[in-house]
Amino acid sequence: MAANDTPYVGLLLIADGLGDRPVPELGGRTPLEAADTPTLDRLAREGECGLLDPIAPGVRGGSDTGHLSLLGYDPYQVYPGRGPFEAMGIGLEVHPGDVAFRCNFATVDDAMAIVLDRRAGRSDFGTRALAEAVDGVQFEDVVCRFKESTVHRAALVLHGPGLGDRVTDPDPHSDGLPLVPAAAKDPADAASAKTARVLNAFLRLTFERWQHHPVNEERRARGIPPANLALPRGPGRSPHLGTFAQRWGFTAACIVEVGLLKGLGRYLGMEVIDVPGATAGLDTDTEAIGRAVVAAAARHRFVLCNVKGPDVAGHDGNPHGKVAILERIDRMAQQIVAALGRRLILCVTGDHTTACSFRDHTGEPCPILFWGETVRPDGVTQFGERPCAGGAVGRIRGTDVLRIMTSYMNAQEKFGA
Ligand code: ZN
Ligand code: ZN
Repeated sequence: MAANDTPYVGLLLIADGLGDRPVPELGGRTPLEAADTPTLDRLAREGECGLLDPIAPGVRGGSDTGHLSLLGYDPYQVYPGRGPFEAMGIGLEVHPGDVAFRCNFATVDDAMAIVLDRRAGRSDFGTRALAEAVDGVQFEDVVCRFKESTVHRAALVLHGPGLGDRVTDPDPHSDGLPLVPAAAKDPADAASAKTARVLNAFLRLTFERWQHHPVNEERRARGIPPANLALPRGPGRSPHLGTFAQRWGFTAACIVEVGLLKGLGRYLGMEVIDVPGATAGLDTDTEAIGRAVVAAAARHRFVLCNVKGPDVAGHDGNPHGKVAILERIDRMAQQIVAALGRRLILCVTGDHTTACSFRDHTGEPCPILFWGETVRPDGVTQFGERPCAGGAVGRIRGTDVLRIMTSYMNAQEKFGA
């Protein structure tokens, strides 16, 4: 308990893709080192800093695996592949035991034999209507939920008992090659054989319902390849993770901008809060996100907040954009600290490094800081990759973060007598 007996509230503030490499046009500094971040620097001075390997040293993680790890789940134990998380991310309900696939709308020849275009001209024309024409069909005792995503993408969730995910991809992964019916990788694996049967029946149905669907007549008329087949890949069986509250002993709010992480929050039973103005881009309304964090802290002892912009700038190879969004996150941190004050145990870090020069995720650690009245200050005076390397936290992994935070929050059961 804090001095006034109000429980501490933990805030894990993730600047997505925070870490970076030295940028020549920033004088060899990283975007975070170059950014003007008076609040984060003050928090570093008053708190404790270090380096975070979101998964393990050198691992190029994704946002999903990084956040699983940061929330205390070892992704090597529980990560089912991208299928379930992509499905959750576009708003499909995913339950433990379901098998999910990433899909493309694809163009197949009139015999449903040769995949002519794996991405159906990269057009989203009519994909919602096509998805609605097959969503909810049932084969055996398995319900197939199918939903369109961006451009030519979609996701498929098989919901039913006794499904396995050890099945081959029907996707030939190159245009002009034959469609390959799904099969269990091990013929003795009855659960995966069931998945393959249902999957093949579902693919046949998409062809039958889509081949002459008005959307495809219109696509042909417009010179867009017809989207007459769902092409799945990357199956994954959703793990039984329990809820965040079961794991840590208190409820949590999830204030994030992208569907992938909203889906993860829902899967873990967190209260997922949508913030108007949160665009997941460089123009996002960080002040509105900050207000939502403060409001959520009145209802929950833990808040996960992710601001996507730094990762977007990294993928765009835009170091100045990354600097700018980090400076706005700095003001958001000021706003939150001012509102929550001594109730707050704050951790600021990233879920992976997104290097502007590489335009993708890389394996370097992210800087991390812990701040709050129970935290012992170390000698670090600036929040940046290299300043934090000298801090008292040392070099930790994602799965350490919630343990450290719950200790500072006085919210952890004792291990031992
Ligand atoms: Zn990320
Ligand atoms: Zn990214």
